[in-house]
Order: sequence, then structure tokens, then C-alpha cells
Amino acid sequence: MKRLLPVILLVLALPLWLSCGGKDKQSKETTAKTAKGETEVAMPEMPQHIPYYDLKLKLRKYAKVDIAIDETVLSEPEKEALTKLVQAARVMDDIFFRQVWSGNAAMQAKIDEVHDFSHKQPFTPIGENHDLIYDLLRFYNINFGPWDRLAEEAPFIGSAAKPKGANFYPEDMTKEEFETYISQNPEKAEELRGYFTVIRRQNGGLVTVPYSEEYKDLLTRAAVLMREAADILTNPANTAKFAKGVDYTTLAAYLRSRADAFFANAYRQSDMDWMDVENNIIDVTIGPYEVYEDALFGYKASFEAFIAIRNPADSKKLEGIKKYLPKLEQSLPLPAEHKNPTRGSESPVSVVDLVYSAGDTKAGVQTIAFNLPNDEAVREAKGSKKVMMKNISQAKFDKILVPIATQVLDPAQMDQVVFDAYFSNTLMHEISHGIGPGTIKKKDGTETTVNRELKELYSFLEEAKADILGLYCTRVLVKEGFLDKATETKGYICFLPGFFRSIRFGATAAHGKANMMEFNFFREKGAIEFDPETEKFHVHVDKMPAAVEAMASKLLMIQALGDYDGAKAFIDLYSQSSPELEKLLGKLKDIPTDIEPVFAAEEFLDMGQRRHSHKKPAPVTHQH
Ligand code: ZN
Repeated sequence: MKRLLPVILLVLALPLWLSCGGKDKQSKETTAKTAKGETEVAMPEMPQHIPYYDLKLKLRKYAKVDIAIDETVLSEPEKEALTKLVQAARVMDDIFFRQVWSGNAAMQAKIDEVHDFSHKQPFTPIGENHDLIYDLLRFYNINFGPWDRLAEEAPFIGSAAKPKGANFYPEDMTKEEFETYISQNPEKAEELRGYFTVIRRQNGGLVTVPYSEEYKDLLTRAAVLMREAADILTNPANTAKFAKGVDYTTLAAYLRSRADAFFANAYRQSDMDWMDVENNIIDVTIGPYEVYEDALFGYKASFEAFIAIRNPADSKKLEGIKKYLPKLEQSLPLPAEHKNPTRGSESPVSVVDLVYSAGDTKAGVQTIAFNLPNDEAVREAKGSKKVMMKNISQAKFDKILVPIATQVLDPAQMDQVVFDAYFSNTLMHEISHGIGPGTIKKKDGTETTVNRELKELYSFLEEAKADILGLYCTRVLVKEGFLDKATETKGYICFLPGFFRSIRFGATAAHGKANMMEFNFFREKGAIEFDPETEKFHVHVDKMPAAVEAMASKLLMIQALGDYDGAKAFIDLYSQSSPELEKLLGKLKDIPTDIEPVFAAEEFLDMGQRRHSHKKPAPVTHQH
């Protein structure tokens, strides 16, 4: 109980969190029958706030990983520019904190007050509870607010529910109010629903405030840093120091137009410029992108950033695979009339090592690949770009996939679980999104898309298709002599722990459901087999190719025909869990769900003390 105290103190110091605290204050004396049903025993009273023990359990779901980069590939001016870009990205952290919750600024100030991380003042008020406050802060930073993103946004401090519309709308605004206001002011509809505006209350009505106003202070700071980086990267005195063939003209153009976009509140031109950036060593993606944080409507874009450096060896390998795209499309187990020879080159893929991520993408689960931009007009004009982060994949492989494999896979096959094969699967998955049916013709001759026909089932089918075609295409590339046989074999085996990793995110998520279908299909075909003695699965590598081809053919036909009913029937048939599965999932409870990246860049780039360092401060009064 003693360890609980500081959390309560902290919460009591924050009256805003107690605004709807009535409910959890009621002392509940619940009773329960004993096994025999004769006497009644009192259940213990639930604590008002999270005990430290729970916080430790919550933190254990995130494996802390140092994200290092190979700085030897960078010249001095490139390092200098990278420093500016990481600093600009950190501004995205600050903006996202504001976007998540109106109370975040006050909360951070409060935490700074009770715990001076800079140690400029003697650390006395909560001295011996140093670890607790440190952990609380760490978890708070992971979640960008006091709600646990891995527990359906349950509050871990206080008891107030997270506002559905985050801080994009007035907290007390309902969906109905917004819709009514729009119907009364139809001329403002576009502005109100815009990606880059927040909604505030004024004189009883609603008003829109553009991001360029709402976050002006922070956007100005980021813009300055981005323009400085662009200048460094295009200064003739510096360009001579870059490696042969490296030219940052297109990146600088993007950085400058993105900085302009922050003030103009118009992002299309800079999205276009991002598509035109040639692959150099430094790779930057920064701005407002995804709309998931707006759980009320999904209109408002959250700020984020990916600062990365490109891996030359992988980029070369990718270039090689691209040459085979027409061949891969031709080889699909699908009648010729449904093949799509012009597809494939529309979505380039690049592989990078992440230097620093910020904002939306860093909250909760870490992104391993992204496909941007989202603006349909830009996608039509220029396509989209897929970026995969190899070092983040490696971190998840080491901390999550290998421990899972140890629990679920036949030990005799463990030596086949290697990062290169796992990453190859991921890479082929991404490439496979770009092949197969996309635009299709219905029976009556009208043109439509797979997405439009399969509606809410589309993402389940599309993710399963990408997984399966990934394995299928690997085999084709082996036959072509581009990949070696070992990659194919290891790829089949790595699929199994990969399946368990995905399913832990929940069977309702697109990847979870897709994996469930693949798993059950493979079991039905005898390609994976459960041994009740050892309680582990064996992968029958020899049976995999036939199983993969059979499933590929089924999924592709459903897509080619835009067969909604067929998709539904397939999902219903193959997405059921089983007792063995549940048992094994139970064994994975203590394996981390995701990683907490600790970016080495912040140290080597000598950016000084971070606002909320993940590094544990030196004076610790006790060990634990
Ligand atoms: Zn995918």
C-alpha cells in the first residue's frame, strides 16, 4: 500500500482528473459464493487508482530497445542536417501531445513540478518513490497521455474516459451536435470536416481553427529547423562532402514546401514533392497524416514524423525484385482474364533504418512500415510510397518473435527462425499488396474496385492475400534464381511465430483476422501440425507450397470477382479459434506486446537533455 501513495498524491494534485471521479470512489463490497456455495466471502475493495504493481505489468508489455544507427554512412554536414530534422521531429511530439488531450500541458507541468528530472533542484518531495514516478512518466510518454493504448484506452491515472474526439473537438461536443451544426451551416461543412482544422466552441456555436493557427508556435519552430536542414543539404560547400551520387535537391525542395504548408495549412503540393524525393541517405516524412486519433469521426489528421537513413544494400535488393514484378503477376494462380499486367509499379517500396520517430506513430505500438501520402489526389497523380523500417523490425524480431517461437514452435525448427527470412516475408508482403486484382470488371461490364465490392471485409482479405502471395512470390523468385532455397524454407517456418505475434493484437484487427484464416487453412492442409505431447507446432515445409497456392487461388478469385458473399463465407469458415490456440496464447502472456524505442540519435547528435528523458536519472535511493 505504501507504494500506492505517490500516485494518489499526484492525482489529488490534479483536480482536472477528478472531475468525473464520483464513480470510482464508491466503496464496493461485492460478495461471492465459495466453491461449495454455502458461505459468502467479501471480495477485497478495488483500489481507487492503479497500484504500482499494475503499472509494472503494463510497462512489461513494452520491451525497451536501443535504436542505434550506423552514423559512419553520414558526412559531417549530413549529421548536422539530421540533428535539425530530429529536433523538428521532436516538435511533432509536442504537437501530438496537444492533439491527444487538452489536459496534457497541465499534466506535464505537474509532473515536472513533482519530479524535477533535470536535478537542478535537490530531489526531496517524493524521494524514495523516485522509481514509481519515473515509471509513471515513462508509461505516460509511451501513451502520449494518461490512457493505456494497449488496454482500449483505459485510464491509468484518474478515472476519466478519454475524449473520443481527442482534442480536435470540444470535449463535451456530441456527434449529433456536430452533424446538426453542419446541416444548419452547410457552407461550412468542408471546413468543419477538414483534415487540418480543429473545432472549438465560440459564442454558443462551433468554429474551425486551422492547424496553422492552433499550433502556430510549434509549427513555426519546426519550419525554421526544416529550412535550416534544407540549406545545409544544398549548400555547395557541403555537397562536395557527400558520398558519390548523393544529391539532396529533391529532399530540400520537400522540406521547404512542407515548411510552407505549415503556414498555408495546405499540404497537397508538399505531398507531391515528397513523392518526388529521390532516395538519398537521409529520408524524411513529417507532418499531419493519419486520422485514427480522431475516434469520433476520423476526420482530423495527427502530426508525426519519421526521420530515417536508407540502407543501400536493401535498396539494391528491392530494385532487383522490382524487375520481376511483371513476372510475378503473370505467375499468379488466377485465370488469365483476371490478371493485371499493368499493376505493380504504382507503389515503390524503400527500406530504411529509423533514426527517430515522433508523434502519432510513436504512441503505443510502433510502426514497422508505412504507405503514404493519404491524399487521394496525390495518389492518383503520383502513386504512393511504402517505407519499411528495418531496424524496428529487427527489434521486434529479437524481443517478441524469437521468444514467441520458443514457446510455440517445434524446437528442432528453431534454428530456422532468423531475422533475414522474417524480414524477407515482411518485404514480400508489402510488395504483394501491389499485385493481383485492383480495378475489376463486374459481370455486367461496369468497372469497380476490389475495395468497393468487398467493403468492410476488404482489409481482412487484402492482408491475407499479401501474406500468402508473399510466400508464393518468394517461391517464384527462388525458381527464377533471384532468391535462394533457404530463404523460402525459413520463410515458411517464420510464418508460424509471426502468426502468433499478429493474433495477439486481437482477431478483430485486420492483420489478426487475416492471420487466423491463414493458420486454419494451413492446418486443414496439414502444412502445420500440433503435437499434443510437446504442445508445440511443427511446420511441414514440404506441404507448404501446395497449401499456399490453394489459398492464393481462393483469395485471388474472391478479389477478382468482387465476391462479397464468397469473402464472408471464407472468413466465417477460417477465422475460428481453437482450444490448442487459446492454450498457446496463454503461454505468451509474459512476452512483450511491443517495443519502446530509445533513440540513440538523441545522444550522438548531442541534442542535450530531453524534456522527458527515457534514461533513468542517476540518484536512486533504493534498488528494486
Ligand atoms: Zn499489409
